[in-house]
Amino acid sequence: MSPSLETFLDEGLANLKEKGLYSTIDVVEGSNGAIIEVDGEEKINLASNNYLGFATNLELIEAANLATEEYGVGAGAVRTINGTLAIHRELEEKIAKFKGTEAAIAFQSGFNCNMGAISAVMNKDDAILSDELNHASIIDGCRLSRAKIIRVKHSDMKDLEEKAKEAVESGLYNKVMYITDGVFSMDGDIAKMPEIMEIAEKYNLMVYVDDAHGSGVLGGGAGTVKEFGLSDKVDFQMGTLSKAIGVVGGYVAGSQKLIDWLKSQSRPFLFSTSLTPGAAGAVIKAIDLMENDPSYVEKLWDNANYFKEELQRIGYNIGDSQTPITPVILGDEKLAQEFSKKLIENGIYVKPIVFPTVPLGTGRVRNMPTAAHTKEMLDQAVRVYEKVGKEMGII
Ligand SMILES: *Cc1c(COP(=O)(O)O)cnc(C)c1O
Repeated sequence: MSPSLETFLDEGLANLKEKGLYSTIDVVEGSNGAIIEVDGEEKINLASNNYLGFATNLELIEAANLATEEYGVGAGAVRTINGTLAIHRELEEKIAKFKGTEAAIAFQSGFNCNMGAISAVMNKDDAILSDELNHASIIDGCRLSRAKIIRVKHSDMKDLEEKAKEAVESGLYNKVMYITDGVFSMDGDIAKMPEIMEIAEKYNLMVYVDDAHGSGVLGGGAGTVKEFGLSDKVDFQMGTLSKAIGVVGGYVAGSQKLIDWLKSQSRPFLFSTSLTPGAAGAVIKAIDLMENDPSYVEKLWDNANYFKEELQRIGYNIGDSQTPITPVILGDEKLAQEFSKKLIENGIYVKPIVFPTVPLGTGRVRNMPTAAHTKEMLDQAVRVYEKVGKEMGII
């Protein structure tokens, strides 16, 4: 007899708990700002992706409210029936202009954007060269396309060149794509865009950059591709509207032809109801703010640089991050978990990140300083890091 659902769940849950892979989920009582309330206590929040503080920005909230009043709470249909409201068109024009491309397409999330965009272009006759540290949504999007997936060593340009050459010269594949995160979320390192583009040009690879952690952070907010002056060279500039932009949604910016294709072939666009008008309105305001006021991005970097220097000064290993993402690398997995628990008890909310999310023996806690933190909050966090680190014999 095949096992019942209940048996499957009982065994599965017990197995997860035994391996330490079952995580309980904390509930934040109010908004996800620089200070959050968890279990009735206020904590300095260093765990969100809310880089610019936009998730709680009053101008974005007002824009969301205005758009909701004008267009309603829901779009009412999928984009290709009649769920494309004027505010969606405005949003896509805004994204394209900001990214420096001809056009853009918006999705309901970054995750479903990767599911929809990769599989709309690549198929079983193709090959995708994929950085081994790419985000789960890229991996799933590649799988869904049924293209041959060729893993490339992380940011290793020699490995990329060898594998690109092999894939192209084998004659086994029709199209070949290279896909990479723009900024890698666990270490904060940036994809080597100029070298990537050289190799891509040599072997005629399509290039897809997922800039979830670069948008709103690099290139004055416009992202990693802009930072390197490659806006007209990278085929797919994918990103999310949920991290620095503070709202929800995903997008691809690229040529008009590419966007025309995605709008007719991308399944989440065709079969899932469009972004809410409120979300679209808030994102338009977020891009407005980044275009007209560099202080948000500047404050993010000032805070991040200050926080990194202070953590290093008191003796922590913060890796080689090139962006505000600030890992504190401890090594041992159990130690990372214990350390995070102590920090949270002392009012600093940071999460442990351990194998298999990062390689074995590189357990860490990851800090995300934002533009919304004050210097006093960061100083308080550093004091706690110093106290807990000394108590636990880490520094
Ligand atoms: C967070 C993230 C996504 C998913 O974006 P959502 O909008 O949260 O669905 C995709 N790619 C990368 C690299 C990410 O970090």
